[in-house]
Amino acid sequence: MINEIVVKSVLNKHKKRDNWFLENYTLNPYSGCSFKCIYCYIQGSKYGGDNSNNLSIKVNAPEILVKQLKRRALKREYGIIVVGSSTDPYLDIEEKLCLTRELLQIIYRFKFPVHVITKSNLILRDLDILMKINSNANLPVDLKTKLNRGVIVSFSFSTIDEMLAKIFEPDAPSPMERLETILKLKEEGFLVGVNLMPVLPFLSDSEENLDKMIKLMKYYEVDFVLMGGLTLFGDKSTDCKVRYFEILEKYFPEILEKTKNLFQNSFAPPRHYQMALSKRFERVCKKYCIKSSII
Ligand code: SF4
Repeated sequence: MINEIVVKSVLNKHKKRDNWFLENYTLNPYSGCSFKCIYCYIQGSKYGGDNSNNLSIKVNAPEILVKQLKRRALKREYGIIVVGSSTDPYLDIEEKLCLTRELLQIIYRFKFPVHVITKSNLILRDLDILMKINSNANLPVDLKTKLNRGVIVSFSFSTIDEMLAKIFEPDAPSPMERLETILKLKEEGFLVGVNLMPVLPFLSDSEENLDKMIKLMKYYEVDFVLMGGLTLFGDKSTDCKVRYFEILEKYFPEILEKTKNLFQNSFAPPRHYQMALSKRFERVCKKYCIKSSII
């Protein structure tokens, strides 16, 4: 079901810049996400209700964004806007609606920089406007020399295995489609990275798996790779923790118990797991001389 909603605000400002994605602002054209990744916590009760089958279009987003960016631009509060922090800005419906495209045009008009996070090749439709943002945006002073451009694009992967992706990201474009899109964006001169998020315990988190993924990213000449572990929330049938364990039971029963053990005390695995994962990741990044941060 697709709803239309009217919002009071569409641009959210952080108190301080995010160290990972470098954004001061986030912007989501849609509420909910039709890619339906099993591990995604926006679908369940973490965000205050079951919106697993609801995708909402923020119909007045362009009008509100003009007002909000005008105010920020007047005060020269320039900062990177992450487009797609809790939805994918290039869902299938975007092809017809062009809502993300309209918002990018407004961002260009007010000269703000963007970091677009997506899993979709539909981003290629907006190359024209992204190029204009890339060369015209006003960056925060301290990022000017480090970035020297107005657009960052990153693609999220939990795996590069097509079969695993079909199970865990059933309605998202395939890993291969994402890689081909990366190639095209790189050919156009964009700064393009990969978010290995979330790395799936016992499925894509081994050193061998990380090695395969990062080696491939190097081959596709990505500029950076960021990594994040799995988090699982909730105990209702639509919550990602419940749905994730159901999928493991169906397809990977042999790792169900050990995965449950990782999440028995918290929404995230224990510190020793996270530290070991980070070390493996950093080792592999070093091996392939690939940056594990944007700047
Ligand atoms: S694409 Fe992102 S926002 Fe959409 S369901 Fe997957 S993880 Fe969630």
